[in-house]
Amino acid sequence: MTNRYDRHLSLSEFTQGHQDLLKNTKLLMVGAGGLAAPALPYLAGAGIGHITIVDDDVVDVANLHRQTIFKTSDIGKNKAELAAQYIRDLNPDIKVAAVPQRLNSGDEIDGFDVILDGTDNFESKKLLNEISIRSKTPLIAASVEQFSGSVSVFAGFDQHSPCYQCLFPELPLDCKNCVEGGILGTVAGLAGMYQAHLTLCFLLGIGDVKPGTVLSLNFKTMRTQQLSLPKNPECEICGKAQYGAQREKIEPPAIPLLHPDELKDHVVVDVRTFEEIFEKPIENALHIPLDDIPGRYAELPTDKPIAFICRSNRRSRVAAEYLYARGYKNVCVLDALGA
Ligand SMILES: [Zn+2]
Repeated sequence: MTNRYDRHLSLSEFTQGHQDLLKNTKLLMVGAGGLAAPALPYLAGAGIGHITIVDDDVVDVANLHRQTIFKTSDIGKNKAELAAQYIRDLNPDIKVAAVPQRLNSGDEIDGFDVILDGTDNFESKKLLNEISIRSKTPLIAASVEQFSGSVSVFAGFDQHSPCYQCLFPELPLDCKNCVEGGILGTVAGLAGMYQAHLTLCFLLGIGDVKPGTVLSLNFKTMRTQQLSLPKNPECEICGKAQYGAQREKIEPPAIPLLHPDELKDHVVVDVRTFEEIFEKPIENALHIPLDDIPGRYAELPTDKPIAFICRSNRRSRVAAEYLYARGYKNVCVLDALGA
């Protein structure tokens, strides 16, 4: 008789032991929207044995272009409960629970092997990061915006692994959710699929997916880049405050502020959004929005000084510090306020 997982077991990398590992995995999906809608069916289909879905939101007609596990007749119904029913029908062998509530900072999360971030705002992502550290549970985070996204594995509770806020120490000013910035439906679908795929690879030890893995996805240029993010020793959430006694103090880099008159052979990188640039273009500047810097900084030359510019010098400082930490020592902030 054919087994549900026969096509897994035909893979040379995959044994019954791997399938049993998935069966014994307890997965928490927080958010049942644009990322969870594509991720959950594949995770359930793969045989993840215990899946809990948390979301207090209800289906809106404007969700349906990307959250394709929901139907028009589902409008107004709770997403966690609908998603749970969808994957129960898909795979009755697994245990599925729905929690139709919002996750709060005081909530104790325990007993899970992995947490998936399916939320769409920075505050929820910060909260999930804290829960991941407190409960010592790896976090597979994902985010999407317009035509790009990222999927990452964090384990900030580990002394050597980064947390979400090592990558995003503060709210990127460019950050928009799908309501504000819009999104092509397939972008959410692809990012959710990457999240499901990264989760399976991480759990099964396939490929080189480990804490600190960041996949940067650009669905306009169709470019995918995999980075390995180190722990930020200065991270307020998982850095030296936690391991202070064991770590050396590392001073934050002194990034110079350059007046526009002082520009020489600098490569000027504008880290504002497309909308801001459209309103007020800057001549002869490369454009890489701040959110895309982790995925695209390798495009920048290492043998020339680089000057970042934004509206208020804040995002350009974040970009400059990010590059400085990655070996680009000749970086500065081009003073947009002094122009
Ligand atoms: Zn951290």
